[in-house]
Amino acid sequence: MSRSVRVRFAPSPTGPLHIGGVRTALFNYLFAKKQGGTFVLRIEDTDQTRYVPGAEDYIIEALNWLNIPFDEGPGKEGGFGPYRQSERKASYKQYADQLIQAGHAYYAFDTPEALTELRATAEANKETFSYGWANRDGLDNSLNMSDEDLHARLESGIPYVIRFKTPADETLTLQDIIRGEVKVHTSTLDDKVLFKSDGMPTYHLANIVDDHLMEITHVIRGEEWLPSLALHYLLYRSMGWDAPEFAHLPLIMKPVGKGKLSKRDGDKMGFPVFPLQWNPQEGDSSAGYREDGYLPEAVVNMLAFLGWNPGTEQEIFSLEELVEAFDLSRVNKAGAKFDPEKTKWFQTHYIQQRSDAELAAEFGHLLATKNISSRLNMPAIVGALKERITFTEDLWTLGHYFFVTPDSYDTKAAKKAFKEDTPELMKKVVELLNDVDDFTAENTSKAVKTWIQSLELGFGKVVMPLRLSLVGSLQGPDVFDIMEILGKTESVRRVENAIRNMV
Ligand code: GLU
Repeated sequence: MSRSVRVRFAPSPTGPLHIGGVRTALFNYLFAKKQGGTFVLRIEDTDQTRYVPGAEDYIIEALNWLNIPFDEGPGKEGGFGPYRQSERKASYKQYADQLIQAGHAYYAFDTPEALTELRATAEANKETFSYGWANRDGLDNSLNMSDEDLHARLESGIPYVIRFKTPADETLTLQDIIRGEVKVHTSTLDDKVLFKSDGMPTYHLANIVDDHLMEITHVIRGEEWLPSLALHYLLYRSMGWDAPEFAHLPLIMKPVGKGKLSKRDGDKMGFPVFPLQWNPQEGDSSAGYREDGYLPEAVVNMLAFLGWNPGTEQEIFSLEELVEAFDLSRVNKAGAKFDPEKTKWFQTHYIQQRSDAELAAEFGHLLATKNISSRLNMPAIVGALKERITFTEDLWTLGHYFFVTPDSYDTKAAKKAFKEDTPELMKKVVELLNDVDDFTAENTSKAVKTWIQSLELGFGKVVMPLRLSLVGSLQGPDVFDIMEILGKTESVRRVENAIRNMV
């Protein structure tokens, strides 16, 4: 019987989660759900110097906002916890010791100063210093000392690290679900530190130990971890453990030019690279998709297409449809260009799917932040404006005049719309409006249009100044719809204001 699928998202809490990290989380989620598996969140916080308070909460909030919550993780025990590496600290040393026993790792006593000097000398010779098979026999480590010496050193309490002893001359054939076979010669690898002098494991050791103990079946992560694959493969082999399967997701590239997408690209072009706004205790805050008004469905749909495609023309996918369609074999190797315009396209699609009532409620919250409360028919306002919006905020940009009586008129438009005979015409419009009892768009439109036709006036001659009176500019939906929403008293008041102001 095959083991049930278990995947993990393993971020380090070093700051807000970059959109690339969110894409990794999403692909893990989709893969797990498709296979009926488990999506684990593991917090990789072994590097205490890079720990940022609030980052873990941010990660969890972001996953929840996107509706891709983890099944197991901090606060959701599933029998494999704890899920923060700092809380698993005591368990790692034994595995480093096991590797030493088996001859796959060794103690290294080289001081930071000695290593800095070696690096400087190499640099002066235009070389790069690398601690490994070519020079490890000449360095200050347990490969080059007697057992007695070693014990004396260990007992004296001087600091040491534990390094992996990479085989010197072997061609490794590694498998990646997305890239296929990857060949690496071990001579290109250095002897990475597995255990640090501060008593903490490094990422490499903690990562493979936890993936093993948490029975992770598939490691799905960003391409930046591909260079670690050979070491991880060797670590599993040296421990005598079966390795999980690996899939390295393609990089997310800048919208224009070359290179990886960075926060600076977002700042320059005005789009967020983080799911949620981030307000650090120190330093600059960063924009987030949620606070910028994007819907989670739009962000998920956009992220899914960063490196994956369904192989059909379909672009709009709900989360459930993504789960159904997702397949790692359809993930590309090549970097995925980030396209902020496409994100807006998804956003426009999803906001149009929202009902008038839902948007009206959101719009109501937005108005409350501006201290505006209104007795107008909000769903009707949404209905009149909706087809032109991408964000809830656009309802305000396009419809603020519903809530605030215009106190001035667009100058260019006024020149065009307010003519000498306009006050007289508008006075008649006021009369006509006052005579309409049931103030619907249909009734006011009938009254005004019949009158226009009877005098054989140009339609624009009346409707343009009317619109300007109601809106303050020549924008907006049908004037008769606007009047129905504003109601008789306010509509008439606005036209009378305009008559006073245009003379
Ligand atoms: N802690 C690593 C990170 O921050 C995890 C990499 C992995 O998934 O192995 O991305």
